[in-house]
Amino acid sequence: MGQIFDTDVFVVGGGPAGLAAAIAARQHGLRVIAADSAQPPIDKACGEGLMPDSLEVLARLGVSLKGCETGAFRGIRFVGPESSVAAEFPRGRGLGIRRILLHQLLVERAQKCDVEMLWGARVSAMREDGVLVNGRKIGCRWIVGADGQNSRVRDWAGLSTGTGRTQRIGLRQHFQLSPWSDYVEIYWGSHGQAYVTPVGRNEICVALISRPKFSSFREGLSEFPELAARVHYAASTTRARGALSISRTLKHVCGGNVALIGEASGSVDAITGEGMALAFRQALALAPALAAGDLSSYAAAHTKINSLPEFMSRSMLLMDRSRWLRSRSLRALSRQPGLFARMLAVHVGELRLKDFGASGLFNLGWQMLVA
Ligand SMILES: Cc1cc2nc3c(=O)[nH]c(=O)nc-3n(C[C@H](O)[C@H](O)[C@H](O)COP(=O)(O)OP(=O)(O)OC[C@H]3O[C@@H](n4cnc5c(N)ncnc54)[C@H](O)[C@@H]3O)c2cc1C
Repeated sequence: MGQIFDTDVFVVGGGPAGLAAAIAARQHGLRVIAADSAQPPIDKACGEGLMPDSLEVLARLGVSLKGCETGAFRGIRFVGPESSVAAEFPRGRGLGIRRILLHQLLVERAQKCDVEMLWGARVSAMREDGVLVNGRKIGCRWIVGADGQNSRVRDWAGLSTGTGRTQRIGLRQHFQLSPWSDYVEIYWGSHGQAYVTPVGRNEICVALISRPKFSSFREGLSEFPELAARVHYAASTTRARGALSISRTLKHVCGGNVALIGEASGSVDAITGEGMALAFRQALALAPALAAGDLSSYAAAHTKINSLPEFMSRSMLLMDRSRWLRSRSLRALSRQPGLFARMLAVHVGELRLKDFGASGLFNLGWQMLVA
């Protein structure tokens, strides 16, 4: 007779990735317990923007943002010291939503799906057939590591080997201001970027991502004079909160009965605004693999899901590091907004990179030379 487990799937971590994994696994009829050492709703430094494709994936998980306080945006605007360029999404709108509110929605959906949630529950060790939670053993067939950037599950499972680790520092704060633009605005400075997401009718989220550590949010903001002037007199509605933005690709995201998801499974730079969308897509790929009892399809899907955002992340980091490349690219794109629109279409999955192709890259390269 086979071993009897307390649950089919045990999810370590109840952030966006863990909750999405738990919901998707329940959608496939698996019994799920998820644990997080924190209490909900969990806040975290985040740019709080969800692109149209992220909203579609959320909908497949049964999560709707209808009726919630959100801020809509129809595209992205890059703002440099000398030039700016904007493009609309080819289809749909993005939504900005306070991270704490999104977490609450995911928790409610998980509860509705009968995920057993353990809050204030730290997972301290892993065995072949289960985990230790607050010192108590819970037996499970599968362990899903959704425990974020510093994943212990990743270490315990021997999955920490990877490549391309770069690190930047993120800081975010909210301000009481009605959004002045219906784009997410990304301001490019010498040490990093600031991006502004509308998160309500009268509230914006400002996230700073930089290589050096700023001594305060205000100091960081002063790197972007145009933005600093806009928020100078606005009341802040939250205190500044920080988090690391790490870009990392793992060699393997599965081993034995363990699968990693979300930031535990590798991450892209925060500037892509794709972190949560990646986790939601990974969850939809992981659940059928768990149900089928074979993680190999998940490993393949994970590589596919992450490849484009990783490429975008590397390109944005190149622009971040080189003043020459940054000002040339921004000038070239502002002369050719259609090119920027096509790049955005690739970013949100509406145009395949190979269809953007050599002619798009050649055109961009040429515009950069003449800019
Ligand atoms: C500055 C910044 C801006 C960003 N902007 C965006 C954006 O605009 N859009 C976007 O989509 N993404 C954005 N991201 C990325 C996004 O925040 C991450 O992709 C997302 O938080 C990943 O979710 P996660 O569930 O993998 O990890 P986390 O949210 O870190 O969740 C991990 C959870 O695991 C729990 N945990 C850890 N260890 C244990 C343990 N041993 N036992 C129990 N629980 C444990 C923690 O308490 C935590 O709740 C941004 C990131 C940064 C830093």
